[in-house]
Amino acid sequence: MLEVRSPFDQSLVTTVAAAKAADVDVAVAAAAAAFADGRWSGLQPRQRARVLLKTAQLLTDEIGWLAEAESRQTGRCVREMRAQLARLPEWLEHFAALAQGMEGQVPPFSDAKHLNYVRRVPLGVCALITPWNHPLLIALKKIAPALAAGNTVVVKPSELAPVAVLELARIFTAAGLPAGVLNVVCGLGAVAGKALAEHATVAKLDLTGGTETGMLAAAAASRNLARVCMELGGNAPVLVFADADLEQAVNGAAFGAFVASGQTCISAKRVLVQEALLPAFRERLVAKAKGIVLGDPMAAGTQMGPLVSELQMRRVLSLVETAAPQGATLLCGGVRSSAAGCEAGWFVEPTVIGDVQPHFSCFQEEIFGPCVTLVGFADEAHALALANDSRFGLGAAVWTRDVARAHRVAQGVRAGIVWVNAHHRNDPSSPWGGFGHSGVGRENGWEALHEYTETQSVVVCLDDTPFDWFGGAERYN
Ligand code: NAD
Repeated sequence: MLEVRSPFDQSLVTTVAAAKAADVDVAVAAAAAAFADGRWSGLQPRQRARVLLKTAQLLTDEIGWLAEAESRQTGRCVREMRAQLARLPEWLEHFAALAQGMEGQVPPFSDAKHLNYVRRVPLGVCALITPWNHPLLIALKKIAPALAAGNTVVVKPSELAPVAVLELARIFTAAGLPAGVLNVVCGLGAVAGKALAEHATVAKLDLTGGTETGMLAAAAASRNLARVCMELGGNAPVLVFADADLEQAVNGAAFGAFVASGQTCISAKRVLVQEALLPAFRERLVAKAKGIVLGDPMAAGTQMGPLVSELQMRRVLSLVETAAPQGATLLCGGVRSSAAGCEAGWFVEPTVIGDVQPHFSCFQEEIFGPCVTLVGFADEAHALALANDSRFGLGAAVWTRDVARAHRVAQGVRAGIVWVNAHHRNDPSSPWGGFGHSGVGRENGWEALHEYTETQSVVVCLDDTPFDWFGGAERYN
């Protein structure tokens, strides 16, 4: 068994089973049997859509307590979890609708005696491995298109936050999802995750997690020629031009950097500010960071909870500690919080690091916590060079009031998602995924649904004339 503990006070939230490779085998076999007999893949898209819509309805009724459960296991404040979970039914509704409108093609086969049509068919058993930072959102982002397309799935949630994903399986079952179609195995990444990623029966591996985890798991899956979708790390730049609305840009950068205690893959990590605006921006961002209220994630007034684990807290602090020796200036935070009520939790004070050079570790590495680096830039070309000086390419934001510049810069940034005068906005219809070491493949929208299918090309002879290639007559087709 595995213990799930609150990162706020270390109290026991629950215990879950720690699957071994043999348990993963059982789950994959159940998913394979459910796929093979067509109990789900053989239904019409409309019939599958009805189950997804019913799940959306039942999930809506349970969001209140699920948000609290998510908050307890991750430490993220409950007001944020409520806002996030309130949107989850949209993913089910969206993919229920798309699946019903998924059309094939009729390519213009040049020989008129043949008709060619192309169908989209489900892949089979899909393995979904998910992280702890948005446990239910990320699981559902994958489950909804996978099931809508007719696949069966095995989900391995993070060992740190498995609770809500298990509850989601119960809700799907209550909505009429046939047995064996959605399977959840809890367990450690190096044991259950590894066994799932390398399982020979898995047709697709869709993993959200760290870049190094993604590389290991994708390599294992590729040995079976399984498809891979990898949503991995990020180090998002925020480009603030001198013509931006200063207050809105500061608020946007603070939201981008500190929501979820900075533990999101598209968190604002590298704030690049045009030199004329830098002193005023720095002063306001530091004041904003110092004003954030840390505390019990379940309390109404709390604006930021702890990090998810002691290990994550130590990782974040040790990366921040590299900054000053390399020549940076710690403008605020950078330490474990000693605020009243926070003593037992893995809290890191909101941190702003100034005087950063692009080669510093704090600029190049993903600091998965409430920490931003601040760097000045001279002009657009300089801003883009700094933004693109990264192995990651997931999220980015541009703050400016100049429309032409906004589009020019958005198109110049090597990132899968670019916000203009915004941050963190996500929608089931809007493609989500990274360039470079931030991953491969896309979540959301048609792309995600298509990636959960493969095409089958059917070529039909329309000619009744007898055909015998070896009949003796000379022929060319
Ligand atoms: P992690 O890589 O530690 O774990 C992710 C999942 O992979 C967990 O379920 C874990 O048990 C499993 N795992 C670990 N080792 C494995 C292995 N060898 N084989 C198979 N599975 C294995 O990540 P985390 O700490 O849970 O999440 C934080 C990371 O996720 C950050 O780097 C963040 O940027 C990234 N992330 C990316 C996105 C995105 O959309 N691109 C979204 C959220 C988080």
